[in-house]
Amino acid sequence: MDNQIKLRSGVTIKRTDAEEIIKNKYLTRHVMSKMHLMPTGDPVAFDVAPDGNIIYYFDPTKVTEAPPETWYFPNAKRETMTLPSGSIIERMSVKNAAARGYYPADKLQRMNYETVEEPVAYTYKADKSVLYFYDKKTAKRLPLMCVECGKQIRYRRKLCVDCYERELDLRRREGDAHRSAYYGMDRARVLFFDLELTGFYDHDEILSITIVDGFGNFIMDTLVRPVSTKSWKKTEEIHKITPEMVKDAPVLEELKPRLKEIFADADNVIAYGVSTDYSHIKHIYDDAAEREEFHKKIRCCANEFVRYTHEHLPEQIHASLTDAMSCFGIEWEGVAHSSIADTLGCRKVWEVLFPNYYCN
Ligand SMILES: [Zn+2]
Repeated sequence: MDNQIKLRSGVTIKRTDAEEIIKNKYLTRHVMSKMHLMPTGDPVAFDVAPDGNIIYYFDPTKVTEAPPETWYFPNAKRETMTLPSGSIIERMSVKNAAARGYYPADKLQRMNYETVEEPVAYTYKADKSVLYFYDKKTAKRLPLMCVECGKQIRYRRKLCVDCYERELDLRRREGDAHRSAYYGMDRARVLFFDLELTGFYDHDEILSITIVDGFGNFIMDTLVRPVSTKSWKKTEEIHKITPEMVKDAPVLEELKPRLKEIFADADNVIAYGVSTDYSHIKHIYDDAAEREEFHKKIRCCANEFVRYTHEHLPEQIHASLTDAMSCFGIEWEGVAHSSIADTLGCRKVWEVLFPNYYCN
């Protein structure tokens, strides 16, 4: 038995001795019950009885009158039982016990607690056998077990170290097969794109579009003049596109035919964090069928990077384009966070993740 116990509240208490008990006038549960008192706080110390049970000691200044149900009927006969240690415990109903936080050992076990103290109350079961109640407050919280094997303590994802490693190894092998597979894509028909916007919401407008193919050729790189937004101070700080810069640029409507043509010729269209880009670029299509057709070609580089980190770098928690690039030692080309630099960065990250993507 250790010389200290960590209580459920997080407080650690020490094993005490007779001298200290007298000096501090510590009270046991047994003594308190004889005085019709109950503790208001955690025990402050403990000792181990010869039978191995733990005896908790309480601060005499932190006690209160025992619950009223024992006082409403002063003439009611109170049944008690004396435990081998000499402690006297009271009979009470399961309901009354639960109201004080006392439970049978098997109930506590299901709540993932182990009893270390002697019982604090009891009742009789239907078959006349004794059912003891234990105080949940002083029961020991057991570590959570692995959901897979149920034998070892949890480590990550509700699994023990062994089960976690086995599961990770399986996922990693699947992921590696997915990434190293030969996709036979034509570099001319794989496009990477990025948009810069006036803001972060769906009603915000496109300010620039960059599209490059798998060879790194620029298929489109243009500023776009928003129709209804006049200024965008917040995003301007990120992408550095000013209202002055776009005043002579084409509006999205004018670019639609060319964009449709470009995407029609593509097999895959890849972006980093594609959902935002898609929710804006989809407006070039007027009908749902066209949008659906386009959506099938979309691939998200961020999703693939996140999957890679889950399998190979569980400690990596951030997955921005900047994180992905620095993870693979890729340098920015041009101004970071411009649609050009983001598109080129996205292409390089994709090609590290999928080294056998192309046929040419
Ligand atoms: Zn396990």
